[in-house]
Amino acid sequence: MDLYECCELCPRMCQVDRTRGEHGQCGEGATVRLSTICPHFGEEPSFSGTRGSGTIFFSGCACGCFFCQNHQISLAHSGRTLSPAELARDAKALLGKGVHNLNLVTADHFLPHVVQLCRALRRNGISVPVLFNCSGYARPEMISLLAQEAIDVFLPDFKFADAALAEECMGDSSYPELALAAIETMYEHKGPLKPWDPSGQIPADSGVLVRHLVLPGRIDNSFAVLAAVHEKLGPDLPLSIMSQFRPTPSCAERGVFRRPVTKEEYEQVCDFAEILGFTHVYTQPEFGDRAFLPDFDREEPFRGNARDH
Ligand code: SF4
Ligand code: SF4
Repeated sequence: MDLYECCELCPRMCQVDRTRGEHGQCGEGATVRLSTICPHFGEEPSFSGTRGSGTIFFSGCACGCFFCQNHQISLAHSGRTLSPAELARDAKALLGKGVHNLNLVTADHFLPHVVQLCRALRRNGISVPVLFNCSGYARPEMISLLAQEAIDVFLPDFKFADAALAEECMGDSSYPELALAAIETMYEHKGPLKPWDPSGQIPADSGVLVRHLVLPGRIDNSFAVLAAVHEKLGPDLPLSIMSQFRPTPSCAERGVFRRPVTKEEYEQVCDFAEILGFTHVYTQPEFGDRAFLPDFDREEPFRGNARDH
């Protein structure tokens, strides 16, 4: 927990003392806050499997992308405060529902709590895989710590390969090189996602899968993302190419990304992944399916989960 005292947990390197109420770019203090804890059936089949992924959505985010699809929790910071004991209790209750894994969403800025939680669960004999579902905007040192101490599966986004786009969207033109270095570190520690079973019958228990959300009008960025990870990590890197972008209120205010991605744009990006020779790729055949767009004002943010309850 000392790491909160002069916080350098992520590349923002704010050096604020979160234990004394100071806030850096992520906007969160030294007490863990989260929005929603639920079994989730909308992740890739390797994670949702047949019984769901045990998902915990943490409040805040160091990136602060203006178009964030989870803006209610990442930008508006909705959520509730939990003590470490309450977090462990709620995580155990979630695992008690029979989910395949524990899926920590945007927990980078709560790294000490993540390590503490994983240690506590393992002391209690709980051995489900722990997923770190993150922005890719991370320091390699922190990734190594997580890989050694807590995490089995890394599920990073690689959002921007275009430095100007990264600057425009989340205020750091270094995102492309930083995210690539972080993903490389994840891959060094864990390798590709294993086992690979897109049917969802055998959920993954270790490795790395990189996600990329296609942005409307910016398939050039998507091509550059795919080319960059292909060059760095090769065609066996598992990927998930996502089509579900929807404009948020901030998109209207800025006049940027004011429409969904078109089917043609999405297919061009998927085709490019095929041309590069990627062998393990999740795509979204149900183009336009809104069932898993979250609304964190609802007790159950994902309408699509209802079909499995
Ligand atoms: S975790 Fe938050 S406070 Fe710490 S360096 Fe990152 S943005 Fe700044
Ligand atoms: S990195 Fe992801 S969770 Fe964070 S603000 Fe950007 S889109 Fe939202």
